[in-house]
Amino acid sequence: MEELQHIIPHAQNKSKVHLSVTLAVAVSLVLIMAGIWNAYKTGLIAEENIKASLQLQRLSDSIRFHQESMTGAIEFALTTGEAHWHTSYETSLLNLQDVMHATDMTLANNIVKKIQLEQGKVIEIERKIFSLVTNKHQDKAFSLFASDQYQEIKIEQEQDALTLRASLDRKAKDIIVTLKSRLDRTTIALAIQIVIIVAIWLYIITIVRRWQIHQSKHSEELTRLAHYDALTGIGNRALFHLRLETAFQQSRRDGKAVALVLLDIDHFKDINDNLGHDVGDSLLIKVAEELQKTCRESDTVVRLGGDEFAIIATNIDKKRDCAILGNKILSIFEHPLSIQKHEIKTGTSIGLAFFPDDADTADELLRKADMALYEAKRNGRAIFKFFDKAIEIAARNKAQMQTDLQIALDKGQFTIHYQPIVDIAENIIIGVESLIRWEHPEKGNISPDEFIPIAEESRQIVQIGEWVLRTACQQQVDWERKNIASINMAVNLSAVQFNQRGLLPQVEKIMQETGIREDQLTVEITESTLMETGGDVIAKLHALKSLGLKLAIDDFGTGYSSLAYLKRFPIHHLKIDREFVKDLPENTQDIAIARSIIKMAHELQIKVVAEGIESQAQLRFLKDASCNFGQGFHFGKPMPAAQFEEWLGHYNQQNISNVRSIR
Ligand code: C2E
Ligand code: MG
Ligand code: MG
Repeated sequence: MEELQHIIPHAQNKSKVHLSVTLAVAVSLVLIMAGIWNAYKTGLIAEENIKASLQLQRLSDSIRFHQESMTGAIEFALTTGEAHWHTSYETSLLNLQDVMHATDMTLANNIVKKIQLEQGKVIEIERKIFSLVTNKHQDKAFSLFASDQYQEIKIEQEQDALTLRASLDRKAKDIIVTLKSRLDRTTIALAIQIVIIVAIWLYIITIVRRWQIHQSKHSEELTRLAHYDALTGIGNRALFHLRLETAFQQSRRDGKAVALVLLDIDHFKDINDNLGHDVGDSLLIKVAEELQKTCRESDTVVRLGGDEFAIIATNIDKKRDCAILGNKILSIFEHPLSIQKHEIKTGTSIGLAFFPDDADTADELLRKADMALYEAKRNGRAIFKFFDKAIEIAARNKAQMQTDLQIALDKGQFTIHYQPIVDIAENIIIGVESLIRWEHPEKGNISPDEFIPIAEESRQIVQIGEWVLRTACQQQVDWERKNIASINMAVNLSAVQFNQRGLLPQVEKIMQETGIREDQLTVEITESTLMETGGDVIAKLHALKSLGLKLAIDDFGTGYSSLAYLKRFPIHHLKIDREFVKDLPENTQDIAIARSIIKMAHELQIKVVAEGIESQAQLRFLKDASCNFGQGFHFGKPMPAAQFEEWLGHYNQQNISNVRSIR
């Protein structure tokens, strides 16, 4: 959730940046287009104005030129007496009239009208002068030329022409001034546009920079989340693989070994179940902290998942050095750990493997450290184990055995042997315990103590256990039906089966299918299974009991259960472990233990079965101690069904009618 909260503002920021850049591009484009348009327009205006200005100047020049030409023609005509100047006069006059017309179109000025008006009068006089010259009346022509009327009009016309030219020049200058101001405005507008564009892009650059910083922080955060464990803050599996690869590279360069230390917390599931996940989490945090304190700066401590931690230690000269680290880690758990007002006493098991001696890939190294860890646990926990060949062979054998177990299931290599359980006081057979046997085609008989833990680990025990339960129940019903025996059938239930979700419907189904009477079936669960199962163990026992069958605690005395537990467990029988029977009646401690178990059980209305009775002396002691039932080689070894039937026949002959059902 928290991670999502990081990501949402990031996405929002990203879209904000996108929007800003898009807007900036749009505004810049508009401004640039406006600038181009403005410049283009100014260019057009400039072209027009310059053309207009040039035209005005041309007009002004033309007026002056033609007036001068006309005046010149008159003067030449008068001085030379040549009438042909009249032609050039008329030509210039025509041109002047054209120019005046053009000027009128451009300027629409009163002066043009006035000049045109005056021109009429002047032309009239001047044509007269030419006519006089043509008719050789030079004197008259000259007098007309010198007349006041003509000179005045001429002067006036000259002045008007000057005014017009001045007006044309002014107009041309005005146009240039207007053009200049237009150019100035355009320049200012362009400058403003450039400033705005630069400002916008500076702003955008700032936003993008800020976003980039934010994004790099964000990606750092993502990297952290991807490589670090959210609960403990130490590295996670991803970091583990990265660092391991780096450590391998360094080792290849400097020739020094890399150690992989693997560990987990003993009974972590119980702590979680009994004290709550909060306490469990705090314990993990505490362990992570302690591990980091214990390790060197250069070591990498990671949580691989659940309660599993790993340490990558580099620069290892001698494997022995790692023993120091192993001991330091064990010492973290030497004393109870204070977690949220709880004093938690737990432990750890540690497995170590080395690169490059034990493995040259990460997966291989992890697998081997895991094998060493498994071996440490098998050796009684709270120790560390270095990986070695023997461990590998054991692991390989284990894998082979799991393959063989599947074959055994498929090919029906399992059988069940039945061991009698006797009522000690009355010396009658009250039941049998079903004990699985495996006749391996090559290895021969393999003890259940050897293969059951392996089948538990691979969960094959669920399938095996189902087969045992069905076969044993079927056998009980067969004996009952054939009137061979009406005795209780005890079946062992492994921890994995007991904790399996589908157990109850499975047992119920088998009971129904085989038709066994509920009270003729006993389920044996070891004390350690009950202790290792989480908080709902009592509910689970009640659920099983509700099927009508009997419950027995197996191997009692080895699983450290408390009396308080015993009181709450809804059980019928308690089986004293062979360990406490073995040295009876000599060993005083065993005497005390056996007596107190029997006494305590009786007070809780629980009947006691003594396991492993091998001698008359043991039996006598247990009989005196009021132990209800006994089981052991003294009465009979576990036997195949047919052999048991034979054995029972003999037994019954000796003790007529001493077979009855368990109560
Ligand atoms: P357990 O349930 O405590 O069974 C009693 C074990 O003690 C049996 O060993 C039995 O042969 C042995 N035993 C009985 N009387 C004597 C005696 O007087 N002296 C000696 N030395 N041993 C005696 P077994 O058959 O080897 O089974 C070992 C354990 O394997 C069983 O202990 C039980 O925990 C487990 N096991 C056997 N069959 C099954 C099964 O079908 N399912 C499960 N889950 N576990 C089974
Ligand atoms: Mg048993
Ligand atoms: Mg036992």
